[in-house]
Amino acid sequence: MQDAPHSDTTQEISPSKVLLQSASHSAQRSILNASHCDIQSRQLIENALKDPIAKIPAVFKHNYYQFQYRHQKSYLKQVNYVAQLAFLIYFWADHFVIPDVSTLSGMTRVIAILIGCGLNFFLFKYVRQIQWLDLILPLSTSVSAIIWFELLLHSTSAWISTYLYASVILIVLGNLSIQVHFRRSLITSALISVVILYGVYRLSSLQDFYIFLLVYTPILLFSIYIAWINTLNARKNFLRALLEDWNYHILNEMAQTDELTQLHNRRHFMHAVGHLIQACCHESTAALLIFDVDRFKVINDTYGHDVGDRVLRSIAEVSQREMRQGDILARFGGEEFIVFLPHTTKQDALKIAERLRQKLSQQGISLQDQELHFSVSVGVAELGVAQCNLEPLIKQADLALYTAKHQGRNCVMHYDDLDLASCERLELVR
Ligand code: GH3
Ligand code: MG
Ligand code: MG
Repeated sequence: MQDAPHSDTTQEISPSKVLLQSASHSAQRSILNASHCDIQSRQLIENALKDPIAKIPAVFKHNYYQFQYRHQKSYLKQVNYVAQLAFLIYFWADHFVIPDVSTLSGMTRVIAILIGCGLNFFLFKYVRQIQWLDLILPLSTSVSAIIWFELLLHSTSAWISTYLYASVILIVLGNLSIQVHFRRSLITSALISVVILYGVYRLSSLQDFYIFLLVYTPILLFSIYIAWINTLNARKNFLRALLEDWNYHILNEMAQTDELTQLHNRRHFMHAVGHLIQACCHESTAALLIFDVDRFKVINDTYGHDVGDRVLRSIAEVSQREMRQGDILARFGGEEFIVFLPHTTKQDALKIAERLRQKLSQQGISLQDQELHFSVSVGVAELGVAQCNLEPLIKQADLALYTAKHQGRNCVMHYDDLDLASCERLELVR
């Protein structure tokens, strides 16, 4: 008998893989690990959503960055390339407003764009942290501001004092695309502002500098406000997605699990095993066990429904312990359980069924003044190579179980060993 768990080293489709695949494909895009869906995590998410600044709880910080990377990366990439294009197009403004340095402007802009595009390509290909990608535009805006002011310093054009005002667009551009980190956007805003104000200070009189400052400050504040709203929305979107994920995992769990025994329920068993059989029906034999508690109605009637429930839970626990890693165990109905044993021969299936029957008959439930013992009858059927249907297999195991009951209960019957003629008679009686 193969008691060891199945090895995962082979290429075959394992039951656990099929169980995972059977979960909706949206789980693949899931942010939250199913094992983290506890009541505390839900509380944390709900509290964060109620928080006016939607602060991301520390435990979800990593998920937050991953989520933003997935959703913002291509947008940020696009914005950076478009901003570079805009920087290049501004050559024509230089050409007409500061014509004396237009050749220098053209050359500088082309060289800056070539370096910028190379850097962009490299960073978006190899840097996988959204916190850094988010900073590319504000930082490159600071660099372009430095380049532009250097050009202006080399020009003697009469339009410079007017042209200076175009620099306010740089602070808007620097803050417009910030999505993830508001605090860092404050630092880059300060950096861009220092570059712009220092440039203006060098190029104009003190009086003109103050007038520029009056125009610049509201726009600086407005752009910081935009950065804040963007980051706040990004946080809220993430928290809502997290909550949706939490609901998805819990609903999925509820839809697949039997409440009383915490085993898989019938629906999930049919779905998962149906898929598994279809996926590997040409590979090897498998077996199915159906077992049913003997005279369970008597237990219920004698000791009460609560004790009946305890018996079912105890059976679930023992059976789960007895199964190998790849076996799929479920509560099939009232007091009936089912197990799919992949890659199992008839002999092994019979040994497993017999061992299970014995273990269960040794198990007892402690009542106030006595120990309650119970037994099960087991029906076994074999899925031959190239057989791909679950329903006939269930019918066969069920017939074997039915015969086991007629043989006096607390025993194991294999479908292959049935006298089908008498079975037909039994079926008629049934
Ligand atoms: P047999 O040996 O032929 O299987 O007899 P049995 O009494 O076990 O079979 P029967 O089908 O007559 O009775 C099954 C009982 O299981 C009837 C039903 O009330 C009870 N049952 C079904 N689900 C539950 C449950 O969740 N909890 C409890 N306590 N009883 C249940
Ligand atoms: Mg029964
Ligand atoms: Mg029954």
